[in-house]
Order: sequence, then C-alpha cells, then structure tokens
Amino acid sequence: RAGPVSAPVVFAKQAVPDRLPSHRRAALLRDPAFGTVFTEHMSTVRYREGKGWHDARVEPFGPLPLSPASSVLHYGQEVFEGLKVYRTDSGRAQLFRPDANAHRFRRSARRLSMPEVPDELFLGAVEALFAADRDWLPAEPGSTLYLRPFLIATEVCIGARPAAEYLFCVIATPPGAHFAAGTPAMTVWICDGYTRAAPGGTGAAKCGGNYAAAMAGQAEAAEAGCDQVVFLDAAKRSYVEELGGMNIFFVFDDGTLLTPPLTDSVLPGITRDSVISLAEARGYRVAEEPYTRDQWRADAAAGRVREVFACGTAAVVTGIGTVRSPAGEFTLPGPAPGPVTVELRTAVEDIQFGRVEPPPHWTH
Ligand code: PMP
Repeated sequence: RAGPVSAPVVFAKQAVPDRLPSHRRAALLRDPAFGTVFTEHMSTVRYREGKGWHDARVEPFGPLPLSPASSVLHYGQEVFEGLKVYRTDSGRAQLFRPDANAHRFRRSARRLSMPEVPDELFLGAVEALFAADRDWLPAEPGSTLYLRPFLIATEVCIGARPAAEYLFCVIATPPGAHFAAGTPAMTVWICDGYTRAAPGGTGAAKCGGNYAAAMAGQAEAAEAGCDQVVFLDAAKRSYVEELGGMNIFFVFDDGTLLTPPLTDSVLPGITRDSVISLAEARGYRVAEEPYTRDQWRADAAAGRVREVFACGTAAVVTGIGTVRSPAGEFTLPGPAPGPVTVELRTAVEDIQFGRVEPPPHWTH
C-alpha cells in the first residue's frame, strides 16, 4: 500500500497549551512503574485511502475517539515502535538510530497490509512530541524518555479486509528504573509449549498480536520464577529464536559471538544490529546461525559457551545467568553479566549517551 498520496505532511510550529506545573511533573517522574505515566501531549496524523496522510498535530494526551466498530478492535491491524531520547553527558537530547525504527515501522505496516508512514513523517511526529514535552527528559546525564509510535486501523467497518482509515500516534513515557544500568543477570525460561511466531507469520513485524501471543509464555516464565521467556522455533521446538521482547547472543570461549539469524519469525532488533556492528569493530567474529537449546545446554556444561546476553531498547545489553525449562535447570559457567556482556553494553551506552563519536548517522 502506498505512502503519501498528497504533498508531504508536516507538523506546523504551534503553541503548546496545558503545560503541567514543574512540581507536578517532578512528582510524576519519581520512579513511576514503567508505562503507567505519560507526558502531556501526543502527536497524531490521520490517513485515508485516496487522501493519504493528513492532519498532523500535537494535542493534549488523552482518550482517542474510537468507534466500537473500528477495525483495529476486531482484526488487530496494529503496529508499533519503541525508541528513546537520551540525555547525553554534555546535556543534549538525542535519538539513537531513529531511521532504523522508521524503517522497521514501514516494514511492519506492510506485513499487516497497512499504509506505510513515510520516514520524514515518523521522525517529524517524534520531534514534534519531544519539542512539546522536552521537560519530561530530566537534565541529569543518563536520563531517558521512552517514545511509543503506533499505527491503528480506525475505519468503522467490521468487514475482514484491510481498513481504509488509520491513525498514527506517538506517546511518551518516562522509563523510571526499568532495566536500569547495573541490572543483575536474568533467569530465563525456555518455553516449549507455546511459540511466539511461525514461518510465514508476523514474527518479524512489531505488531500487537505477537505480544498477545507471547503473554502465555511470559506468564509461564513468571510462574517458574524467571524474568523472561525464551521462545523456540515453531516447527521443531528446537532452535532458540528470541526472548519475549529482546534478541539473544551467545559468547563462546574462542571469542566468537552467535545470534540466531533473522528469519520471518524473529524481530530484527535495532540493538541486535548495533551490537553486531560494535562487536565486529572490536574484532569479535559474529555468526548469525541457528542454535538449538540442546546445544546450548551441552556447550554450557562443557564451558564452551561462556556468556549469554539479551539485548533491546529497554534492556540495552543484559546478562543471562540461569536457564530453566520443563527439562530442568542449568547455569552458565562464567560470572553474569560476563566481561563481553559488560564491554558491549558499555559500547552501546557510550554512543547513546554521547560519550564517544558515533558511527555515521547513528544519533540524531
Ligand atoms: N524482540 C522483540 C520481540 C522485541 O519486542 C524487541 C523490542 N523492540 C526486541 C527484540 C529488541 O528490539 P530493539 O533492539 O529494536 O529494541
């Protein structure tokens, strides 16, 4: 489905009404549970078939007018993104690879037969929201503000076909202590009863349905006392694919890194891609190859796999120490997080917080 039909849509400079008094904002910023407190505004843009993208605006955060017959409520045409604004050591605010989020957002939309938000409009919506709510990013270096762009089918129609009307919206939430630096290593649960995504399905798209499908596995993990769920491939229940909301890397004793390849059932994480580049630049060999859970257990027992870590926008790079499954439990041989995990976490954060010169076009 085509992008804009009309001329490019831009967010006009506008006065931002209804700013909270700073003491009220400060109170809300004090350690909120992740994703429960939102900033004062949201960016919205409408789409209609034949008309294209229109009505870009920043408005007060609040309920959306939505018919109970809106297509998204019935057939789940919804895709989203997650990215952060980072307060650098020199006090600037910057985004980390937002063009990669814009690109993945278009790919996700395409997979769900939704219109693609042009990259400039995606970035424009993010910038317009941040311009309105910049006071929500604390001045202290190391602070972040989490942005959640999403696209939903708003057409009033319960016919099962791609909708003709959509809403693109960006909201923002302070991340609080969610996966703060120094997060201890995680215990993960290998789930073989439920899968998250199947060949030919939507696993590589960032759509709400994938997360609904993953919740039973995450609940099983929580019941087993684990922090995160590891999903296996749907066909053989043998290959490790990814976690509920993060990609996974294995570090071997010969200094090689391995991460499962990007099939159509794995989300192409932007942190994953960044870790591969940064590790290779540091001289590590990175293999994107299938890896089974049986091999993982055997390699851990033999001391061949030294470290395992998960990565994503929220977790950055977080070590995995213990692995549980219905078949039993094993522990990685080295300390968790191990030295390679810590090195790569630092490498990513040094760029996000402006401590080192970034590769070209990685910060904005
Ligand atoms: N896998 C899944 C299923 C995710 O939800 C996420 C978070 N977006 C990731 C991997 C990591 O992606 P990113 O590094 O772009 O945050």
